[in-house]
Amino acid sequence: MNIRVGSASDIGQVREGNEDSFLVLAPLYVVADGMGGHRGGEVASSLALETVQRLFEAQQGTLADQVTEANRAVFERSQVDRSVAGMGTTLTAALVEGDRVHLAHVGDSRAYLFRGGELSMLTEDHTLVHRMVLEGEITEAEAETHPHRSILTRALGVDASVQVDEGDVIAVAGDRILLCSDGLTAMVPDGQIREILSATPDPQEAVDTLVRAANSAGGVDNITALILDFDEGEPPGRADTTDTGVPHRSAVKRPVAPRERAPFARGRRVGIGAGIAVTIGVLAFVGLRLYLDSQWFVGVSNGRVAVFRGIPAEVGGIGLHSVVVETSIPAEEAEALPFYRELGDGITAPDRESADAIVQQIRADVTSAQPAGS
Ligand code: MN
Repeated sequence: MNIRVGSASDIGQVREGNEDSFLVLAPLYVVADGMGGHRGGEVASSLALETVQRLFEAQQGTLADQVTEANRAVFERSQVDRSVAGMGTTLTAALVEGDRVHLAHVGDSRAYLFRGGELSMLTEDHTLVHRMVLEGEITEAEAETHPHRSILTRALGVDASVQVDEGDVIAVAGDRILLCSDGLTAMVPDGQIREILSATPDPQEAVDTLVRAANSAGGVDNITALILDFDEGEPPGRADTTDTGVPHRSAVKRPVAPRERAPFARGRRVGIGAGIAVTIGVLAFVGLRLYLDSQWFVGVSNGRVAVFRGIPAEVGGIGLHSVVVETSIPAEEAEALPFYRELGDGITAPDRESADAIVQQIRADVTSAQPAGS
């Protein structure tokens, strides 16, 4: 099987830096989306990929081991360097061995398989909204526009240990695998991604088109996309990797890593065809870890408008937040206004300042809504 690669990473239209990173290190391909402030996000995603790269090149451990080690490296750095405290990153990796593609995944970047004109998601988002979908609290459609959709339930580097999802796909000629950060999927619906993949055979052209589509839809986040195209490569050489990647801070390119050669069976594998189903086995959500440190929201405490740290949700009856300030504003006066009807569910804010600003706005709106003399 030959693999042709396209890769692109773009800052988008709004962000001041690109906190995404990717690795093209045939036969290993990885996307990471950092978080935790400007610097933290960049450090987290690039440190995670550097760690994976180092272990991969040293042929140390399995892909999951390498990702686990990257978790430790990011976590330890965040403990010793205050300027990046609380940082974390997503990581979605594909390692190709023969026709088998191993996936390792943490967070809300995604891997998709495009086969026979159909697009299917190979990874599960580790987000609060996905969990709510699984629990039947909201629909998939509601999840797409949910105000808390970017809250991760699992990320690399925020805790000393991490649960890594793993799965395998048997690739057949004609398959495309897309790895991407949420800056693509939050902007471009799956249907449009599918259309672009159908209409654009060249992998580099396809990733460039995906990035353009995300930017024209608003580009509110950094956008990263890698495409791996699997062709029936008959020229007897080994998996010839055509790397047409766009230069990127942490993109690393090697023609063929030694590890790729050994497991490649060149013979045609009779019986492996389109009928072989995707054998992805995403492992259980054990040790759900909520990424709460940097989350704020305005809600209701003891009948008053209050500022909370955490997220307005609970798991197994345990609240995932704590009250920071309880104001004097009666919650029912705010909830009487159409705009704040959902106050009880919490209005999320990116930081403390924004949460305070929401409170000020509520106070102003409640005051001006008071009928004279009441
Ligand atoms: Mn992102």
